[in-house]
Amino acid sequence: MIEIKDLHKSYQMGSNSLHVLKGINFNVKKGELVSIMGSSGSGKSTLLNILGILDEADEGSYILDNTSIKNLSEKIAAEYRNKFLGFIFQSFNLINYKNAIDNVALPLYYQGVGRKERNDKALHYLEKVGLANWATHLPNELSGGQKQRVAIARALASDPKVLLADEPTGALDTKTSYEVMELIQNINDEGKTILLVTHEPDIAQMTKRIVDLKDGLIINDTRIEPVKAKAHV
Ligand code: ADP
Ligand code: MG
Repeated sequence: MIEIKDLHKSYQMGSNSLHVLKGINFNVKKGELVSIMGSSGSGKSTLLNILGILDEADEGSYILDNTSIKNLSEKIAAEYRNKFLGFIFQSFNLINYKNAIDNVALPLYYQGVGRKERNDKALHYLEKVGLANWATHLPNELSGGQKQRVAIARALASDPKVLLADEPTGALDTKTSYEVMELIQNINDEGKTILLVTHEPDIAQMTKRIVDLKDGLIINDTRIEPVKAKAHV
């Protein structure tokens, strides 16, 4: 699903250059649930943003679902993001003046899906995350965990090939974090490929593979038997 070879990324700041990714190699197969770990500043978000076609590497190759991601125009990049990827963020990134169902339906609107179909789909995904009864509520009427569930439903709405999550539990208390991880595990059990960034070891233990980033390189890449989040909620 994802093939990355010798990926490099630097940031320029004036005359200084910060070499953040120094030759990343890794592959992710369909159905994997991978956590990317590393201390703050280790380049986790940089890597996830490149995987998400929100940013581009300086060197190296990235193949996503047999499609080479290189030198894309902003229009094509947006098209690929819509077609291949769903995003989940630490801070949920919901639109405050839209209710839950409209937030979930928004990516479908941008894809030109008609009103009836997008509302049906949005409700379907809200049901899936256990929030059918909250469809008409605004984000500020929802708890943090509920907001993240809405964001997950939104990420799923366009049936992406890969879900990318940057610290999805970073703003949640432990119990709520595990509830969100239970949902992520369930979605993965249905076959969805998921990559998540975290710096919390207990969250990483709930994935099937832990990739450790340090000083711009992968220093460890280990498959594990995931801890079931359900047992801890
Ligand atoms: P992490 O997500 O692991 O905390 P990041 O990928 O956000 O790390 O950042 C890696 C390094 O790159 C940090 O030192 C950060 O300050 C720097 N960095 C990230 N984004 C930019 C940017 N747009 N411009 C300049 N430096 C950046
Ligand atoms: Mg980060």
